[in-house]
Amino acid sequence: MVDDTEVLVVGAGPAGLALACALRLHGIAAQVVDSASGPASTSRANILHARGVEVLDRLGALGDLPDRALSAVTITQYLDGRPAITIRFGDVGLGAARPALYISQADIEAELRRRLAELGAGVRWNTPLVELTQDADGVTALLGDERVPLRCRWLAGCDGSHSTVRKLAGIGFSGVRLTEGFLLADVHADWPVDRAGGHGWPHRDGPFFALPMREAGGADDLWRLMAYDPTGADGVPGDQEIVERFRRLVPERTGRADIRIKDAVWTSAFRVHRRLADTYRRGRIFLAGDAAHIHSPLGGQGMVTGMGDAENLAWKLALVAHGRAADALLDTYEAERRPLATEVLRQTSAATRLQVGDSPFMRFLRNRVLVPVANLPAVQRRAGQLASQLWVTYRRGPLGGGAGSRRRPRPGDRVPDLACLRPDGGATRLHAELGRRWVLLSPGGDTYAYADEARERLGDTVTALTRDSGTQRDVWLIRPDAHLAWRGRHAAARLGPWLDRVLRQEQTQS
Ligand SMILES: Cc1cc2nc3c(=O)[nH]c(=O)nc-3n(C[C@H](O)[C@H](O)[C@H](O)COP(=O)(O)OP(=O)(O)OC[C@H]3O[C@@H](n4cnc5c(N)ncnc54)[C@H](O)[C@@H]3O)c2cc1C
Repeated sequence: MVDDTEVLVVGAGPAGLALACALRLHGIAAQVVDSASGPASTSRANILHARGVEVLDRLGALGDLPDRALSAVTITQYLDGRPAITIRFGDVGLGAARPALYISQADIEAELRRRLAELGAGVRWNTPLVELTQDADGVTALLGDERVPLRCRWLAGCDGSHSTVRKLAGIGFSGVRLTEGFLLADVHADWPVDRAGGHGWPHRDGPFFALPMREAGGADDLWRLMAYDPTGADGVPGDQEIVERFRRLVPERTGRADIRIKDAVWTSAFRVHRRLADTYRRGRIFLAGDAAHIHSPLGGQGMVTGMGDAENLAWKLALVAHGRAADALLDTYEAERRPLATEVLRQTSAATRLQVGDSPFMRFLRNRVLVPVANLPAVQRRAGQLASQLWVTYRRGPLGGGAGSRRRPRPGDRVPDLACLRPDGGATRLHAELGRRWVLLSPGGDTYAYADEARERLGDTVTALTRDSGTQRDVWLIRPDAHLAWRGRHAAARLGPWLDRVLRQEQTQS
């Protein structure tokens, strides 16, 4: 049977669009289908943490988002009406080239679609996946009411938390409901509250959050209001009812009566679940994004985790599709990404329980322990780092160097964006060269032998760069997703056999 495309991406949210862009960058034919009639215009997520900004940068999909975003991302928590803690997501260290952005999911998706179009692809709207079967050579997907068949070698379910792909592949989604109802409204409001960052008010009836949002051509008065309101769990409240509840909740929870809500752009009522797919792979079918993991929106980890999945899966699929790696390399996708999702679920669940919990113990923990500790600069920095996901490492995964090696970064660790030089002496940035390519980064000197070994296995997708400055002594091979693959000194002869083992996944097969 002839394939219509190499990879069918189901779902045009941030995960699916990022995956399609990354696949196209690696020269893989990818089609994207989505059941919706067109792009969603509602904001949904509105914080993109630093790691997500890096992914967009490597995909060439950052565009002018930093100019359109509120970039000094902070969250101030109040106690007894007074600011008690301010967590900053801007300067989180860890070599962050760019801070987190307050930007809407709709804007991010638009930028990813722009990039995808540049790479020669688009989204087929009104095209739900309704059925699928797989065999040894590929997957047949049935699309739309007419059940039009589409044949592909691999299929990626990026179709969100209610994933049809996950259900059709028979993959469980284990987990629990964490909380009852949250109410959300994006509103235009006159409110003399500092718009340089977000605000959170713990309250015995549940926390209340207000985050500033930007709107193209708007009057700079758009706010996201979010409140834990278990009474909202009965039935699905309408837009007007939610706005009315917020008019009541703002003074009750924040102690401020000076808000004038003009109108609502979007409202939502939702419960928080914590769930993780039992596996990320079934044969030729993969899951990424919310289809694989859902967690509390507190902490803003959904998009950044899904886009990280996409970047990780794309280069592995590309190597296998180009015949340069064994199918077993694809198992390392789950091995690297599922433990990370487990950790994100743990962190976001703990943060949610701490915010929502109203037992005397939780109140004591929040008000008497957390507040004094959280004001310590080291703790603030750590909170910012955790949210940034720049700490993500695959060191303990099948492609990592384990905890044993002494020199950092260790294989599996993220390599920060670094100033580098091209062979012709031109200045560049490491992350600007990644995305579609691998980088061989050396402190200088002759790296032809390394480049030959790498190109023989990875093809003409290896760029040799030298460090502009710094104390690096080894030659580093860096993956397209900015994680260190290998490092060595006077060791070109060892690189080839190491790559052979990784690409064939001999160590995981034995
Ligand atoms: C209130 C709220 C606030 C949030 N805030 C943040 C935040 O600040 N930062 C952050 O990082 N995350 C946040 N999140 C989480 C974030 O919105 C999600 O993690 C993100 O949307 C997941 O992206 P995705 O691409 O995996 O799935 P989705 O965005 O859900 O996209 C799935 C796509 O698949 C399509 N689809 C579904 N079924 C089919 C089918 N059968 N066939 C074809 N297409 C199909 C859908 O139409 C949709 O376009 C928030 C979530 C909520 C609810």
